[in-house]
Amino acid sequence: MQYIRMTDFFKYEIKPFVLGAFLSRVMETTDKHGNKYFYAYTSFHSSKAVFKDDFDIKGYAEALAAKLDKLSGHYNWSVHSASDGGAQLRYYVLNDRSMPKTMFYKSLFAKTVSAEWALDDGINEAKKDFIRGFMELRGSIDTSRPLIAQDYFYDGRHELKKALILTDTMSVPIRYANFNARNLQPQFVSGENKRNAQFRMNLPYYAREIGFVNDYKAMIFRNAHGYRVDRVDGKGITYFDADLPRGDDNDMTFVRYLNFFTNNIYAKRLTPQAVKTLRAQLGFSDGDGNDDRATHNATLRSLFYDVSEDKCAICGATETFTNRATGRQHFEVHHVISFCNDATTDNIANLVKLCPTCHALLKKDRASKSDQTRAILKILHEHEEIFDYASSYLQIDDINDLAEKIQSMLG
Ligand SMILES: [Zn+2]
Repeated sequence: MQYIRMTDFFKYEIKPFVLGAFLSRVMETTDKHGNKYFYAYTSFHSSKAVFKDDFDIKGYAEALAAKLDKLSGHYNWSVHSASDGGAQLRYYVLNDRSMPKTMFYKSLFAKTVSAEWALDDGINEAKKDFIRGFMELRGSIDTSRPLIAQDYFYDGRHELKKALILTDTMSVPIRYANFNARNLQPQFVSGENKRNAQFRMNLPYYAREIGFVNDYKAMIFRNAHGYRVDRVDGKGITYFDADLPRGDDNDMTFVRYLNFFTNNIYAKRLTPQAVKTLRAQLGFSDGDGNDDRATHNATLRSLFYDVSEDKCAICGATETFTNRATGRQHFEVHHVISFCNDATTDNIANLVKLCPTCHALLKKDRASKSDQTRAILKILHEHEEIFDYASSYLQIDDINDLAEKIQSMLG
């Protein structure tokens, strides 16, 4: 087994790429002699976006290991085949200091935020290496939407907000970062499907500004999204000529979601009692027949106000008038999928804030079908968490079909 001893690992400079890989996720394993290791990993699997004969995944794994070794400053990446015909590469650190995993993580975190290269105001090549390690190794390329996404694992409270290191320290503009708290979805709360939360980054941003380490992931991106390769640099990083989406750096949704997640979801996810408490907080019915709908809605609305920006999700207005009761700008809460007495749509991921005009537009038969559908499309395009919720709730992947369906359900 190829590895580096922890004593040596900490003796020398740890490259930004390796820091990013481990801060994204630390894995643990023990060999047959009882030696303990931490490892970072990357894996990739065949994608429908790349014709099988066009890319030799197994053959490429060794070349990728060599590239990752250069970025890491050690010859330490080893190839492991994955069960589904893909490849997995690992970077092992032998835990010869018997260091607890939490301490290992915290040490790397401290090294990262205090590193000289991390103190620059702007983005630099070292920060890009960190982002590649953090984002791409475990990230998958969404072939239908412009996102690179990874499951968001955490081993304790100290890791919950780790994605903020990308926006706070690595200078990723906040408009390109995105958090999908899938734990809020009804399938999660009902226990049918315990999918992890996901951290995501805008894919055209990644392709243009950060660049792909893995040639296979670059090819998936090229085929699925139709952008041209701009250049490949001396380290073998592929950059694309991709259009950067406009966005709003005052949109704090990402930060608010992480805060909401930390304060309300984490540590409440483990026990049935905790899930029950969470359901109550979110205004879910537990089916005991004593629910007061008005109270439910009020609870949910006030919660939603705490975690969402005062901004119309359709026209973008941030000013309406000052509501005397709250002292804040007046906005109205709208259920994207109409409420229709179905308690499962009474979910925080189904809510948006609208100005009074836009809210009126979405009342049944108040405006033309095309105006309403266009407004709904705007919401879905600009709010990933809403799209995710609605798409999974209605089982419709295509965004245009989804908007039409939601329009037909307006109440
Ligand atoms: Zn509006």
